[in-house]
Amino acid sequence: MTERTLTIIKPDSTEKGNVGAIVAHLEREGFRIVAARMMRLTETQARAFYEVHRERPFYDDLVAYMTSGPVWPMALERENAVSYLREVMGATNPAEAAEGTIRKLYGESIERNAIHGSDSPENAAKEIAFFFPRTELV
Ligand code: ATP
Ligand code: MG
Repeated sequence: MTERTLTIIKPDSTEKGNVGAIVAHLEREGFRIVAARMMRLTETQARAFYEVHRERPFYDDLVAYMTSGPVWPMALERENAVSYLREVMGATNPAEAAEGTIRKLYGESIERNAIHGSDSPENAAKEIAFFFPRTELV
């Protein structure tokens, strides 16, 4: 089934100049970009986006990292987009990610792990709406 998911190319990737390579990787894997923007998250936005993790010990560091530089949120479309993106991204910790995955190729630590991907279709819909009005999905 064709579905949509949300990715964010994270600040470590923009810092290292890996944006183009990651976009090319996603396109090669059959994702169609339906919306994209470059922005710097405010602290309020980063806290809200990762709200589910607010009780976790790494939450404040995660917010600091996600606001440390530009990010590229993108809505992506593909067959089974949510689960397939998780596969292409690799495990949260790049050291444990499978060979050839984006996090294995471009991530540097469990925190600075190159890219975000929605973890369920329900969250994908919420996360796409967080960044894009419906009229910007093309
Ligand atoms: P994302 O939600 O960004 O796609 P994920 O679903 O693989 O990543 P989550 O458990 O949702 O992993 O964690 C969200 C983000 O918080 C991670 O991508 C990473 O940047 C950071 N993070 C997760 N676990 C840790 C940890 N133990 N220490 C430091 N940062 C962490
Ligand atoms: Mg997650």
